[in-house]
Amino acid sequence: MTPVPPYVYTLLTALWDAGFAAHPVGGCVRDSLLGKEPADWDLCTAARPEQVEAVLAGYRILETGVRHGTVTVLTAGGPVEITTFRADGEYRDSRRPESVTFVPDLRADLARRDFTVNAMALDRDGGVIDLYGGRADLAAGVIRCVGDPDERFGEDALRILRALRFASKLDLAIEPATAASAVKNRALLDNIARERVFAELGGILTGPGAGRVLRDYGSVVFQVIPELAAEKGFDQKSPHHIHDVWTHTTMAVDAAPADIVLRLAMLLHDAAKPVCFFTDEQGTGHFYGHGEKGAELAGSILRRLRCDNDTRERVCLLIRHHDVCPPQSVKAMRKFLAKVGETGVRQLMACWRADSADRAQPVRERNLALVDASEQVLEALFAEEAPCFSVKSLAVNGRDILALGVPEGPAVGQMLQELFDAVADGAVPNERDALLEKAAEYCNLEKKGLQ
Ligand code: ATP
Ligand code: MG
Repeated sequence: MTPVPPYVYTLLTALWDAGFAAHPVGGCVRDSLLGKEPADWDLCTAARPEQVEAVLAGYRILETGVRHGTVTVLTAGGPVEITTFRADGEYRDSRRPESVTFVPDLRADLARRDFTVNAMALDRDGGVIDLYGGRADLAAGVIRCVGDPDERFGEDALRILRALRFASKLDLAIEPATAASAVKNRALLDNIARERVFAELGGILTGPGAGRVLRDYGSVVFQVIPELAAEKGFDQKSPHHIHDVWTHTTMAVDAAPADIVLRLAMLLHDAAKPVCFFTDEQGTGHFYGHGEKGAELAGSILRRLRCDNDTRERVCLLIRHHDVCPPQSVKAMRKFLAKVGETGVRQLMACWRADSADRAQPVRERNLALVDASEQVLEALFAEEAPCFSVKSLAVNGRDILALGVPEGPAVGQMLQELFDAVADGAVPNERDALLEKAAEYCNLEKKGLQ
């Protein structure tokens, strides 16, 4: 078990010395029992927020959630949240309690917590206070609600997604009654703020159990992203595929590196397959245009979920290009780089690989060989002395073109584009003198009216 770090112990001692009960609680206890370094240490205490502030007067303290009893103490070791023991008041609309009541002892505070594995605290000697069997559940690898699951999900529907997140992040199963209740109560998620839904979705997607959780709880995912529901059971009627679209999607998520952009891209990459589907005369399924259409669909899903713009744009770019053949020549790579940028190409390599993971073996091997070859082309291009993959990376700029006598205006951009195309085609090296010579040549041709 990970010991309580000194910067946290100092805060606990200060509260104890002032006569208040105080305990590390929740995620940090769970993670220490798992032998993991907790991301942060949360404390709970009998002291009211103003009493915490008085006891810890030497610290900078943020009144982060003071109405709910939480203050954040800034220490040299990092921020520590301290929350007064509380019981939640009545819940309306399946989200956040209307009011909270501060209570004198730990027992009621642990009872309001969502899952048994999150409802443990540490006593003064570092012993585990475990009133709901959290330790046994952790050992058995299950997420189980504290108390009656229908009641707990009814109070706060976000807990449904939290159950999936912990199942994915900690690679645990969800105990059958809790699982059944999560599925049954999924419509309550409609009451939850979309940014909170999106934050949990991110956690689900980036955990080691992501694919399994998506497969087992598809109906919960479809509650928050109904656009994906048509993927389930959708027969692709294609020799390239061995699974329905949803199963393939969940496997592609697992096969991508655990990065939010890549995993979101894999979750949404085939969203437009059902609408783009048609069969040819042989009865083989095709999905022309599903990359472009999928990018549009992903854009509207991510906007609705209040995803930040940067992530949304990256994800949409990847989806737009996920079904093109990885560029196999330096010329094609330069043009592709001009379109999607270096980060885009590198992320697409990961997407192309992930998208191939569950294909029939010969198709998978062929696809992966194409990605490997494409990556070599990319590396060769970047190994060049002056790698050129966009107008901006040309060894000449607009001023050089103006100096040749080209009039200000669109003609300058056109000239640069032509030079880039010439470099991409291998007609001229990306070197200043050679480019100026080529540009002068174009100018002369234009003057002679031959262009
Ligand atoms: P993480 O490592 O992801 O931060 P965590 O367990 O610390 O995991 P938090 O969301 O930071 O999760 O919440 C801290 C603790 O507060 C939880 O362990 C749980 O006891 C309690 N908690 C948080 N949100 C809820 C909720 N919606 N309903 C009930 N208890 C909750
Ligand atoms: Mg936490």
